[in-house]
Order: sequence, then structure tokens, then C-alpha cells
Amino acid sequence: MEKLQQNIRHKLTEFPEVKVKRTQGRMFVLLEGHDPYPIIEKVKNIFGIHSLSLAIKVENDLEAIKEAALYALTNSENIKTFKVSVKRINKQFAIRSQELNQILGGHLLSNTDAYTVDVHQPDMEVKVEIRQEATYITSSIIRGAGGLPVGTSGKTLLLLSGGIDSPVAGYLAMKRGVEIEAIHFESPPFTSERAKQKVIDLAEKLTRFGPSIKIHIVPFTKLQQRIFQETPDGYGMTVMRRMMLRISERVCQKEDILSLTTGENLGQVASQTMTSMNTINEVTNYPIIRPLITMDKDEIIEISKAIDTFDISIRPYEDCCTIFVPKAPKTKPKRDRVNYYESKFDYEELIQEAIDGIEVIRVSDQKKAEDVFEGLF
Ligand code: ATP
Ligand code: MG
Repeated sequence: MEKLQQNIRHKLTEFPEVKVKRTQGRMFVLLEGHDPYPIIEKVKNIFGIHSLSLAIKVENDLEAIKEAALYALTNSENIKTFKVSVKRINKQFAIRSQELNQILGGHLLSNTDAYTVDVHQPDMEVKVEIRQEATYITSSIIRGAGGLPVGTSGKTLLLLSGGIDSPVAGYLAMKRGVEIEAIHFESPPFTSERAKQKVIDLAEKLTRFGPSIKIHIVPFTKLQQRIFQETPDGYGMTVMRRMMLRISERVCQKEDILSLTTGENLGQVASQTMTSMNTINEVTNYPIIRPLITMDKDEIIEISKAIDTFDISIRPYEDCCTIFVPKAPKTKPKRDRVNYYESKFDYEELIQEAIDGIEVIRVSDQKKAEDVFEGLF
């Protein structure tokens, strides 16, 4: 709950007058006169919130409660039938729930003429909750993002390409409470500045669901060229993927991150067969979270549209994989073969050079991708 409260506060920093309070099992965002809708837009994306409702807070006083219930009903749209549900948590309040239900129902009916009561399937339930400190009248329920508060399940390093899959994988990890940092491998001049911007824009979209995201941009050109020079028989892509994991693992060690996350999906492309995954995975024993592993492409696309990353992902700029990928990559690359090819050249120096050249960019929901160059490794 405390983490969730922090996450909500963080999302609402641009509304300094709004307060976030919590009591048992419930979080309150006190609008203090602020227009609720821009705030609802922010809050409904925060993981760990299953539903939210607009509430009016009044004193524990019958007349005030009557007035607020009437306001809630008459200010809601498309309502013909209603029902009042009183919950009296504060037993010191003199009127019992059942009796108050009737008093309020009667009050609403006698002061309006467009509504009738329907206790089974009302268009609107006017909920009245009498607590110690005040009474809350709730009139509409909005679905929240569900999941767990980001930051309650540790941190992962998301391998973020410019494609459709990896941002969706990041979103799903965040939904289970995992905070993310991202790593992206770029190969200038073969990949353009716009391909990099795509990745920054994708990460920025993901910050709507959690805190700011640190992106590690790895200069991969030299290493990648060398790999494809040294590696025969369609094994280049396998070695390249293994290098990505090796570098990612080192970033994890530096940043105290305990897992990696990818957008891999079983059977989609050559690098994602079972044999290929087995061979690529050999170089790290960090857990690799693969939220999309069993999904169909159309399910993935549906999520990417819902989280608004799809249009960015389909911008046409090439990423490093599409440029260097051989015509016929091996679909069943074997561990012993790839180890043999890797042993022919000592890549350590190039790996270190790539790591030393990492540029760190932090993106947040609040501000447009602000470059905070944090120096070299
Ligand atoms: P995506 O849609 O995420 O690009 P994909 O279906 O194109 O995935 P691959 O190209 O095989 O699949 O990549 C598999 C995973 O490897 C990606 O989902 C991503 O997590 C990671 N990856 C690929 N290229 C890069 C890159 N240039 N930088 C960082 N991670 C990458
Ligand atoms: Mg891709």
C-alpha cells in the first residue's frame, strides 16, 4: 500500500494541491476542488489499482449526506434507475444502515421525477460509506489497470528493440509489479538517429504505467560487424544474441538488477525456436522473463494498440537486427558449434568497449525525454 501511495503521488506531482491519503484497504485522492478528469486519466493507468470511484466527502450529518446523494444522482448521465447502499462502518453514527437506505431512497425519489428504484439491476448504485472521519458518497466506478504496484516485485532489465513485442513485454512485466530499466543495442550509422528516437518514445509510453525509465544505449556496430565477419554458416545472429545477453548481464550487475526481460515469442522467427533459445540462453544464468512466450501475434498487437505503442513500433526505421541478419539464419543453432565459432576470436575487448560507450538516457512521464548523460561506465 505504501508503494502504491508513493506511485500515485509521483504520477500526480503536476497537481500539487491534490493529496493522496490511505486508510485500511483504501486509497483516497483528495481533489481539493480540482477537475477530476485529468486526474482520473493519470490514476487509471497505475498498476495495483483495480477500480476507482468518484466520491463526495461530507460530514457525518444526515442533512449533508442527503444533499450529497442527491447531487451524485442528478449529476450522473444516462441513469433511469438507482439503488442506495449504505455501509455503516462507524457504529457511533445514530441511524442504522437499513433505515438510512430508506430515508435516502425516499429523499431522492421525492426530490426528482426522472428516476425509479431498482434493487436488482440499477443503472447506478449510490454508495454511502459512513466512516469515522467522514461519509463518502460514491457514484461511479471506473476500471483501474489492475496488477501489482510497480516496484513491489524487484527490477528487470528490458531488452528493448524498436519492434512491436518488447514494449508489450515491458508493459506486462510492469503489470506484475516489476520496475524496469531498458537496454537498447544500436549500430550507427547503419541504424539512424530516428531508430533510437523510436526506442526513447516507446520507453516514454511505458512510463505512463510506472516511474521514470533509465535506458542504456549500447554502441554495437563494431562488435556486430566483427561477429558477422568471424562467424560462418548462418550462426552470426546466434552469436549476436549471445553478446546482447552477455552485455545485458553486466549492466544488471552494475545496476543491481536481478533479471532480464525480452519480447521473445515461441516460433515467431528463426532466433526464437526452442533450439535457438536454448543456445542463446547458455551464456547467462540470470532468469529471463518472457511474458509473450506463448502468445499469438494478434494478441500481442492488440495489447500494443491498447497501450499506444503500436504506432511507434511500426515506424519504418531499421534496427540493428534487421540490418545484419543473414539471408538464412540457422533455425537450429547448436551449442557446441556456436561455442566453437566464438572461440575463434577474442571478443572481450570489443565487449568492454561497447560497455564503456553506453549512453544513459532517462525518460519520464512528466517531462519529455530529457538527456541525463550519466557518464561512462
Ligand atoms: P521485437 O518486436 O521486440 O523487436 P522480434 O519479434 O522482432 O521482437 P527478435 O528480433 O528475435 O524478435 O528479438 C527478440 C528480442 O530480443 C526482442 O523482443 C528484444 O527483447 C530483444 N532485442 C532484439 N533486438 C534488440 C535491440 N536492438 N536492442 C535491445 N533488445 C533487442
Ligand atoms: Mg525486432
